[in-house]
Amino acid sequence: MKNYFVYVSSLLKVFNESESGFIMELGIKGKKAIVCASSRGLGFGCAEALAQAGVNLTICARNSDQLHLAEKKLTDYGVEVISVCCDVTSGTGQSALLQACPDPDILINNAGGPPPGIWSEWEREDFISALDANMITPITLIGKVLPMMINKKWGRIVNITSQAVKAPVPALGLSNSARAGLTGYVAGTSRQVAKHGVTINNLLPGMHDTQRLVDLDSALSEEKGISLEDARTSRMSSIPAGRYGTIHEFGNACAFICSQHAAFMVGQNILLDGGAVNSTI
Ligand code: NAD
Repeated sequence: MKNYFVYVSSLLKVFNESESGFIMELGIKGKKAIVCASSRGLGFGCAEALAQAGVNLTICARNSDQLHLAEKKLTDYGVEVISVCCDVTSGTGQSALLQACPDPDILINNAGGPPPGIWSEWEREDFISALDANMITPITLIGKVLPMMINKKWGRIVNITSQAVKAPVPALGLSNSARAGLTGYVAGTSRQVAKHGVTINNLLPGMHDTQRLVDLDSALSEEKGISLEDARTSRMSSIPAGRYGTIHEFGNACAFICSQHAAFMVGQNILLDGGAVNSTI
């Protein structure tokens, strides 16, 4: 009986009641996070889940109206939110972010994805832009925040990459290439810094219901000469879960990786795709 009470009280420590049911206590209340490219979509989903866990945020995007709307929504969770209107792929944007939050405990790397196309169209400049946004930018920010995280003996870095890392998407060759480069860097670096209490992991979205998906569905509808709705339905039917993922599901997975519970998760590539990538492991 005594053991039963110990078990229940330890469960109650881990779970808190919220309006929407039970939420897990992540143990990161009061920490500071930089969440890149976060006025909407997956970046916003991550920022919102961290705000729900009591994390103070520095967010960024290029469009100030949308950024301030996001800031207002996030402030409602009772955390501090600093907005930096910038292009995160530029040196000035990266400096502005780090000036606003010089010693983050958590870094979520994100930026817009490269456009779809075909191998025969891509020139050197197309690859340089894709590598700059989706490989060099996260690597640069990781390099800037690691010394402070190592010093504090605690840090969480999550890179939003893509399911294209596990299974290439033919029309997204620029994304396939840039994400693979970042994945290689994380595989090595995460294992060098793990002993300092700093984890680096990648979160791989499959198809999630964001503006990016509207853009990709529109490209498919144009290419195949079908309606946007038909393009959407056809792509959803290729996912075992039968639907697109939500930014809330994605954000909650990200917040878990940033939590105290995920301290032993190092250099992993976590696929969130409703089962779309068909593989045994
Ligand atoms: P989205 O277009 O819905 O949102 C992108 C966000 O990033 C916006 O807030 C935008 O303002 C901001 N942003 C874009 N480029 C920026 C820049 N250079 N500087 C600052 N802010 C910038 O996109 P999303 O669907 O949330 O996708 C996020 C990332 O995930 C992209 O790299 C995308 O390729 C990748 N991804 C998304 C999916 C999906 O299903 N949505 C699947 C695989 C990979």
